[in-house]
Amino acid sequence: MASWICDKCGYNLEADKPPEKCPSCNQECSFVDNSCYTPDCAGKPNDPQIKGEG
Ligand SMILES: [Zn+2]
Repeated sequence: MASWICDKCGYNLEADKPPEKCPSCNQECSFVDNSCYTPDCAGKPNDPQIKGEG
């Protein structure tokens, strides 16, 4: 189970994978994997704002 946050409205939900449509926006929003912000996450953060690239 992972935690996801809508990139548009900040709607938070827990699911194995993000939904196609945001229940809050009713649109095809981008969902950010919020579960990887924890230290024990094996993956890497995929938020470009944190990495500061560009
Ligand atoms: Zn949304």
